[in-house]
Amino acid sequence: MINSLRGMNDILSDDEYARYTYFIKTATDIASKYGFHFIETPILEETALFKRSVGESSDIVGKEMYQFRDKGENDVCMRPEGTAGVVRAFIQKKLDKAGGVHRYFYHGPMFRYERPQKGRLRQFHQFGVESFGIASVYEDATMIMMVSDILKALGIGYRLQLNSLGDQNCMPTYRDNLVKFIESCEDEICEDCRRRKDTNPIRVLDCKNAHCQSLYANAPKLINNLCSPCNDDFTTLKKILDDNDIAYEIDTHLVRGLDYYSKTAFEFVSDNIGSQSAIAGGGRYDRLVEFLDGRPTPAVGFAMGIERLMELIVMPENSREGYYMGAMDEEAVALIVSLTHKKRATDRVTIDYKAKNLKNHLKAADKVNAQFCCVIGTNELENGTIWVKDLQNRSEEIIDIETF
Ligand SMILES: [Zn+2]
Ligand SMILES: [Zn+2]
Repeated sequence: MINSLRGMNDILSDDEYARYTYFIKTATDIASKYGFHFIETPILEETALFKRSVGESSDIVGKEMYQFRDKGENDVCMRPEGTAGVVRAFIQKKLDKAGGVHRYFYHGPMFRYERPQKGRLRQFHQFGVESFGIASVYEDATMIMMVSDILKALGIGYRLQLNSLGDQNCMPTYRDNLVKFIESCEDEICEDCRRRKDTNPIRVLDCKNAHCQSLYANAPKLINNLCSPCNDDFTTLKKILDDNDIAYEIDTHLVRGLDYYSKTAFEFVSDNIGSQSAIAGGGRYDRLVEFLDGRPTPAVGFAMGIERLMELIVMPENSREGYYMGAMDEEAVALIVSLTHKKRATDRVTIDYKAKNLKNHLKAADKVNAQFCCVIGTNELENGTIWVKDLQNRSEEIIDIETF
């Protein structure tokens, strides 16, 4: 017997399928209401794309990529995240040169060769949104509102953590000050942090080591050293969130390791799934388009891991939908096939081609979660009628086939 690969799951059971499709429908409906359009990019891309966007020093690129040479000797990689491909497509279509505003949402599988553990898959699914062409902090606030709307619609509670990463104007000075601070306690920090000090000093702030964290409580905070445009934006962002009743906490240790991230960074966390608590993350990445050889274009986005959210979704109680069609007599099967075809123009219809007794049809209709169980037996066939039971309201009636 051949099994699926480690860390790669089927979405197969009734419950998983219902949760997955309910998530996609809810998230895409909301993104469409916000004026975003669907984009689908390939799963395979040139490895260089992720090396330049996600960064060679990151764990994702350093350790976790599904990277190989294809039959044409191209160095390719299965996408570990969604933003790089969307930015590549944006530049390839010359939309950076066209200017204007471009807003996209995507969803699909991502691949990371991680050690399989609870809540971590090697093939997992993300839903994400990217907005190009708007430098205004109002767009950052809109992103946060969209995540909040999606989580609320799914019945998922959250805490929102917020930080500002500054920009090219204020970040470099801060970084120098931070390096000085790290040097002052270099003997006490962990191995990883000592390495980060030289490669990526900002990343020491989200070190998972408790002793490091106790030391960094005294580190200078970028949020207190923002230049005035960055500070104004952050103040505006907080005010919009206040005005719209979206609660947040400032987390000065919420950082990103890459230079193209700037200003707003946010993370939505859940307290209901243990230590793997981030359920959505995003922020502004004004320099990524430029990093990938495009014309400088302000951009902001977010991504959410669908598998983690699936276990938290509160499914609506009334989920019966559509029709179930069955025949009690072999002679009626052709008729229910025709009626099913007609009904499918507007409704979801499940059909059983085998003649069965009523009890078995009712059971089968219940199993597929149909709202109406419709059955034709000998009597109905003679009278040109169909027997219909509403499984939601437990009522039944006999309807003329002409008006069904
Ligand atoms: Zn550390
Ligand atoms: Zn600044």
